[in-house]
Amino acid sequence: MSQHHTETYTCPKCGHAQEMQYWDSVNAQLDPEMHEKIMNREFFDQKCDECGAVVRIMYTFLYHNMEHKLMVYMIAETDPEKQKEAIDKINELSDMVENAPTDELASLLSGMSDGYTNRIVADYNGLIEKIIIANNGFDDRLIEIIKAIVMSRLGDALKGKTLDAIYYDENAEGERALVFVFDDGKTAAIDFPADLYDELKEKLLPDLDPITPKGYAVIDYSWALGAFAEMSGT
Ligand SMILES: [Zn+2]
Repeated sequence: MSQHHTETYTCPKCGHAQEMQYWDSVNAQLDPEMHEKIMNREFFDQKCDECGAVVRIMYTFLYHNMEHKLMVYMIAETDPEKQKEAIDKINELSDMVENAPTDELASLLSGMSDGYTNRIVADYNGLIEKIIIANNGFDDRLIEIIKAIVMSRLGDALKGKTLDAIYYDENAEGERALVFVFDDGKTAAIDFPADLYDELKEKLLPDLDPITPKGYAVIDYSWALGAFAEMSGT
């Protein structure tokens, strides 16, 4: 079930106070309209009734997709204290899951049933990426490992440039790509290496579960580097 509550918000442009709906959680199947807004990058946009100004107000919420068995916490706090609080709250739950005496209790505590993927992301792009990956039937851990491999292969080609992020993406035509976002705002893309994905799926997938944190996990580039080290025993 999706949950939301109402809070008063003051328009930064004209000072008009109005109510806005905060979604504590969104269920993609029960609220397809909100799912669409998330994917269209309109989810956090608030329109002022008085002056029409559209302002993006980011907040932390839980995305739940029953079809793809995916739950993603998006932490959107910019205030470092609040950010820490939000992460601590989710980590407390993860610790309880990690230390649960039985697997059954662990799955009860984390509120997930078998086969669920539970993730924490720190921004809107990260949330959308996780949803597209699940929608394409891919494993996000293998995607992060592919990013690390591609980065090591590109090596010299990226010299002198600073990367902000790499995202897996699919365009309207269904073409899949890895998109590089540089610190100057410019982007570049390469075709998604589907053959490499298939190869890694066969070779690595069985070894990933033991090195994947239970409960809500941050699965990103840093995780992929750690996973490499662990799998090669260094
Ligand atoms: Zn206004």
